[in-house]
This record gives sequence, structure tokens and C-alpha cells, in this order.
Amino acid sequence: MAQNTEHESFADRLKTAMAHRGLKQSDMIRAASELGSKLGKSQVSQYVSGKTVPRRDVVALLARILDVDEGWLEGAASLQAEPNTPVIPNDERASARHEAADQPSDSDRQHDAPTQRSTSMREFNKSSKLDNVLYDVRGPITDEAARMEAEGQRILKLNIGNTAPFGFRTPDEVIEDMRTQLTDCEGYSEARGLFSARKAIMQYAQLKGIPNVSMDGIYTGNGVSELIQLCMNALLNNGDEILIPMPDYPLWTACAALAGGTPVHYVCDEQAEWNPDIADIESKVTPRTKAIVIINPNNPTGAVYPREVLEQIVEIARKHQLMIFSDEIYDRLVMDGFEHVSTATLAPDLPCVTFSGLSKSHMVCGFRIGWMVLSGNKRCMKDFMYGVNMLSNMRLCSNVPSQSIVQTALGGHQSVNNYIVPGGRIYEQRNYIYEALNAIDGVTAVKPKAAFYIFPKLDVEKFNITSDEQFALDLLHEKRILITRGGGFAWPEPDHFRIVFLPRMGVLQEAVEDLADFLEHYRQR
Ligand code: PLP
Repeated sequence: MAQNTEHESFADRLKTAMAHRGLKQSDMIRAASELGSKLGKSQVSQYVSGKTVPRRDVVALLARILDVDEGWLEGAASLQAEPNTPVIPNDERASARHEAADQPSDSDRQHDAPTQRSTSMREFNKSSKLDNVLYDVRGPITDEAARMEAEGQRILKLNIGNTAPFGFRTPDEVIEDMRTQLTDCEGYSEARGLFSARKAIMQYAQLKGIPNVSMDGIYTGNGVSELIQLCMNALLNNGDEILIPMPDYPLWTACAALAGGTPVHYVCDEQAEWNPDIADIESKVTPRTKAIVIINPNNPTGAVYPREVLEQIVEIARKHQLMIFSDEIYDRLVMDGFEHVSTATLAPDLPCVTFSGLSKSHMVCGFRIGWMVLSGNKRCMKDFMYGVNMLSNMRLCSNVPSQSIVQTALGGHQSVNNYIVPGGRIYEQRNYIYEALNAIDGVTAVKPKAAFYIFPKLDVEKFNITSDEQFALDLLHEKRILITRGGGFAWPEPDHFRIVFLPRMGVLQEAVEDLADFLEHYRQR
């Protein structure tokens, strides 16, 4: 009879059984393939080293290969040995445990399946609050890319706007300032943020012409992301509708849904430089509509909305008494001399919340620092502000060392300006990707005016595309390029995808050549 010894890990049992059968890792892979299943090299090595514990179906496969009882292998402690369960001498067990001694502790390990006494345990399902939430930018296609990377394949990630891996450096002065102030940032700050940071944000808002801004209406956050979630929770009751652009920045849709609201998407029109379709917005307002979200400059399209378009949106908000949320995190990455107009400047009589931060303009998205500015008609949003304060207090404060650099970052020379003019990386990479994509037969793209994303269109008939997820997976498998499918941005047709054009020119050129080569023969089945 073989019982699982307490503290014995999955890796211990796997290694013991492999040793017992005289099987090496390569034998396991071969045996899996003979059984018509696939086991990757890195997969097996992760199980053996204890870094990962396999899912239940993989445990079953391993048990089959090793001819041991599945429950024993999985770790059901009280399980009686089946006739085929290896009877392992105590000294062997001791040595297997000894081998495991210098492996990571359980708490270090990444589990993808329960391992201890789990067979009779009830299942813990995710909350039904997440049923309507979709967040695909880091979704199943990214998981597949991670799996391929774990196997040792190199993946070019054109899927998220993460500046640091592509060699964009934070200005030295910003780093130096954080270093200097670090020891003063050990405690919590006031919930809304440090006075110096909020003062600098207030002055920045004033320079942009935002009316009726005061210190008590400025909140710092762990990125704009945290503040989006905070506002949606503070505002939306179950069933309240909120207008969100389509394509969207998916966090807005996800947070609105998680808060119990109903995201209603209005169309941004590719034929009109991706500007919002005013008639579509108007047609989607109902008595339940509480607010409208504007993302300008836009992710994923790179659009910058002209003043007249914003005026028309504000007019709809005025007519229907909507609150305005304007996400302007890319306002300092506008190219070609286009003017960025802050929506709040056009709506002094309406309740407005404007979002921005340092993630993109100062290439510090890992520092997690963003802010929001309440402006315009504050009388009508008193109770909302009460809710915002409550939630802001509940999260205590945002990252204080990151708040300490806001003043430096917003003042003086803006080094991001060097990137967005002729000769600058973002400017030149934007020009290249725009020209190169449009040169591919079956691909068209509107030229982005800001930020570092492009949202190209595929000729679905030519490529026989019915699923953008399949397209993204096929491209990943064949060329090891990771893009985000249009569906990740609530785009209803399978005909778009987003590319982040942050990689250096050489890498970008190679990526586009690979994409062109792929599309040369690609026909979706
Ligand atoms: N809003 C938009 C439109 C974005 O594109 C992003 C990040 O990509 C965010 C908000 C989140 O930014 P942060 O890093 O400040 O959380």
C-alpha cells in the first residue's frame, strides 16, 4: 500500500514514479505522443522541478504513461494504492524529498490545479459578477504565447503598450527625483494624493483650460486603470447605461460591467478618420444612460478628435444630462501639429472627469501613477464625489514614491516631445507601419495621429476570415508575432486587429515582412 506522505509534493511523486519506471523526461514526451497527446519539453520540466502543477487532464495523462493511480499522483492523501501504484521504498521517498529540498516552497509555485486533499473539496468558481466581463488584451491568445515562450520560442509582442521592453527610457531626472525622495515616501499619503503632486496636476489642468478645478477634485491613482474602476463603482447602479466607444479600451467596458452597469457601445467611424459617429451616439441614448466615455487621443485607433466633433458630443451630453468621462492619457503624444482639446474645456456647465497619467508620456507604466480631475458642474456631482472619496479612502492612497515624481514630470522640458517629431522614434515608426501595412494586399489602415497603436483592417473575403481569434492564433503559431484581435476591443466584425508599433525600426520591419509573408498565402479554414 502506498500512501501519500504529508508534505510530499506533486513533483516528488512524479519523479519517484518516473524513477520507478526508469523513464526520463524525453521518454514522457514520446509516450504522450504515442498516446496521441502532446506534452511540451518545458511543460514536463516545469512539473518535475515543481514550478507548475498540471491541470487534472494532464495529471490523468501522466498517470497513464507512468501506469500509476491518478488520485495517488494528484495527491489525495488517504487514497489506497491501486494494484498498479508503485510501492516505493521509504529510503527512495526520503531521497526524493531530499532532492526537492532546494526547490521553491509551495507558496512560490504556480498552481494550475489543486494538489492536496482536493478530491472531495467543493469547487470555488469565479464570482458571477465577472460573467459579463471580457478582458482580452491579456487573454487566451496571450496565454498561448506564454506557453510557447515557456517552451523556449521567442515571441514578438505587439500586443500591449508597454514602453520599457522596447527601449523607451524614463527621463533621468524623474528617476533621480524618485531616488532622492524615496525615504520620505514610506508612509501613506493623504488618500487623494500628495499636495505637491495634486498641485502640479491642478496647474497642468489649468494650462489645458479646464474650468473650475480645485485641489479637492484631484485624485491620484495606481494608474488611470484604478481610477476608471473607482469611478465606475462610484457611479453606476445595476442596469445604468454608459456610452463607451467602439472599438473600446476594454478596461472601460470591463469596469462598467463589473460595477453592474450596462456598457453601450457607440461606433467610431473608420471612414471618418475613426471619429465618433455622432448620429450613432444620439441613437443610443436612453432614459437609463448616465454617462459617456470619450477616449481622446484614442487607443486603439490613434485618432485625435477635432474640436467640432467634441463640441457635438458635449452637446449630446448637455441635452441628455450625461456625465462626461474623458480619458486623455495620450494627450502629450499627439503628432503632426494636431491640437489636443480637452473635452472638459468645452463643458464648463457639465460634470466632467478627465483622466491622465505618466504611464505613456513619461514611459513609466510600471510605476503605476495616474490621476483624475473633476471639473465643470460640481454641484450636481456632490454625491458622486462622496462615493469617490469613500472608495479613495478605502484604498488608502496611491503609490507614494510614484506620486513624488509628478511635479518634476509635469514641469519643464518634456522629453517625450523628442519622440513625436520627425526623426523621433514614435513618429518615424508610425510613418513606417502606416505605409508598410497599406502596401500589403488586403490590408488598409488609417494613419494614427497620436499614441503608438494602429488598428488595421483585413479584407475578410480575400483571406476567408471568419474568426479574428483564429487569425491571431495562426499568426502567432506561424510567425511568432502576438497581436490583439479586434474583438478584444469590442469590435463586432472579425476584420480588425491592433498593432503596437513600439519596437525599434529593424524589428518592426521584420515583423511587417513576416506579416506580409503570412498574408501572402493565408486563407482561414
Ligand atoms: N486608458 C487608456 C486609453 C489606455 O490605453 C491605458 C493603457 O494602455 C490606460 C487608460 C491605463 O493606463 P495606466 O497605466 O495609467 O493604468
